[in-house]
Amino acid sequence: MPGEPQDDCLFCEIVAGRVPATIVRETDTTVAFRDINPQAPTHVLVIPKAHYANAAELAAGAPEIAADVLRETKAVADEEKLDSYRLVFNTGSGAGQTVWHAHAHVLGGRGLQWPPG
Ligand code: C5P
Repeated sequence: MPGEPQDDCLFCEIVAGRVPATIVRETDTTVAFRDINPQAPTHVLVIPKAHYANAAELAAGAPEIAADVLRETKAVADEEKLDSYRLVFNTGSGAGQTVWHAHAHVLGGRGLQWPPG
């Protein structure tokens, strides 16, 4: 059921507090935590607490929560004092998605190349 917690989902487990994470922000609908394998000096993931498999499913199923996630990416960037930063929603295995719970990567603190690999 879209939005319901999934037993086998790592990020649902982080939301539930059963898997540790370095949480930097939390709202009623979102959690932001540091990526365990950072690709930049700031690398924070912002996730909806509700389970949606990727950004496309989140946008279609709960657009108000998708907006909350976006709002929180800005809050993270502000807290981290990032002038420039990149938001990434890997969507699908071909794009590098490995965790099937929607998440925004907030990457900053170094120069970032374009196009990405
Ligand atoms: O976009 P993608 O699905 O590849 O991103 C998943 C991210 O989740 C990875 O950057 C990975 O380092 C991160 N991760 C994490 N904590 C975990 C497991 C994965 O921060 N316990």
